[in-house]
Amino acid sequence: SVGDLWAEVEAGCVYNDFNAAIGKYGFFFPCNPGSAEACEIGGMVAANASGMRAVKYGATRDFVLGLTFVKANGEIVNAGTKTIKDSSGYQLARLLCGSEGTLGIITKVTIKLLAKPKSTASCLCSFNSVHDAGKCISAIIAEPLIPASCELMDSVSIEAVNNSQGNPLPDCKALIIVECDGEPEQVERDLKTVERIAKDIGATTVTATHDKKQIAAWTSARKAVMTSLSALKPGFSSVSLADDMGVPVSKIPDAVLAFQKIAEKYRVTIATYGHASDGNLHTKMLLDPLDKDEWDRGVKAVSEIFDACIELGGTVTGEHGVGISKAPDFQKERATELSTIRAIKQAFDPKNILNPGKLEQWEGSILGKVPLRYPCKDYM
Ligand SMILES: Cc1cc2nc3c(=O)[nH]c(=O)nc-3n(C[C@H](O)[C@H](O)[C@H](O)COP(=O)(O)OP(=O)(O)OC[C@H]3O[C@@H](n4cnc5c(N)ncnc54)[C@H](O)[C@@H]3O)c2cc1C
Repeated sequence: SVGDLWAEVEAGCVYNDFNAAIGKYGFFFPCNPGSAEACEIGGMVAANASGMRAVKYGATRDFVLGLTFVKANGEIVNAGTKTIKDSSGYQLARLLCGSEGTLGIITKVTIKLLAKPKSTASCLCSFNSVHDAGKCISAIIAEPLIPASCELMDSVSIEAVNNSQGNPLPDCKALIIVECDGEPEQVERDLKTVERIAKDIGATTVTATHDKKQIAAWTSARKAVMTSLSALKPGFSSVSLADDMGVPVSKIPDAVLAFQKIAEKYRVTIATYGHASDGNLHTKMLLDPLDKDEWDRGVKAVSEIFDACIELGGTVTGEHGVGISKAPDFQKERATELSTIRAIKQAFDPKNILNPGKLEQWEGSILGKVPLRYPCKDYM
């Protein structure tokens, strides 16, 4: 119902298909996770997914006006409203956002619509250190200038993408790609501001463009980080152990320095990249998962990365959710909320039949128990 600014969508609809459908009417659902081609609206709500544009537009939770879900006892609940404003008591629809399938099965969602921006442009700034890149992001936000997105890549990520994708990025120690959208005049002003701030911080190159092909090439280079990393060192795989931490934006330089120290301490290669303008940092470890010593060092490094983020006032998961592997660290982070969280689970699902074990620490470390890609007797 475009006149009411919402669309109702079944939980199994794929994000890109939903966006294409509302796009015909001039609207968009901006969350745009990296898995946009495959992820479903129900999964996005259950994980409270977001993506590159969260700093300006928010996460899935910010667009859910209402939803229908089935409780563990089979009861069907229509939660929320079809109004833009709603002060009508507890917000159960919001509670289901990020519940990771532990409270109910979502079947239908009412999503608030946003008008598509008229103009989009991007600016790529390269730096001599990832610390300077982090400082630049923080300075842009503090201006205040809220970009549509701002992606950070460190030297390991840049090298991996350039090696595997035919050098689409400048050869540098760190870069950010800042996307501005809105009315054309505003976009122009924002680009100039980004250029000024980046140069003040010491950017080695600053390239702004409106060219859709160039913007798409940078976006696809950034999206290629994950797959490119595994090809960087023969015999090594890119492992998603500490995957999507969030820290306050001003703490990004501190977080990146902490990750570098942890990488040195445990002698593992860590790539850092992410949707940094919302403080969301991805790290991938390059290691041989069949080498027990290396794997164990990686697991210890992960635990320290999570501790560092919690210490900086951050979270162990900014967008992917807790699942099983992050449960011990999530429980550390949310220590004072845990008893209430468990009481809510008990009220919704007293027999614990919905995704049992999710968000809960398994006996021992799940990272030491998961069967790896290939049989490895030390872990079986
Ligand atoms: C390559 C890649 C890139 C990614 N990039 C991003 C990113 O940029 N941002 C981001 O936020 N995430 C990202 N993700 C993580 C994930 O894909 C997203 O969070 C996605 O939105 C999850 O949706 P899905 O349909 O894949 O859900 P699934 O992975 O199938 O499920 C996720 C969780 O939700 C539960 N669930 C699924 N459907 C329902 C339902 N109908 N009712 C109740 N519970 C349900 C599942 O049990 C599970 O616990 C990425 C993943 C990959 C593989």
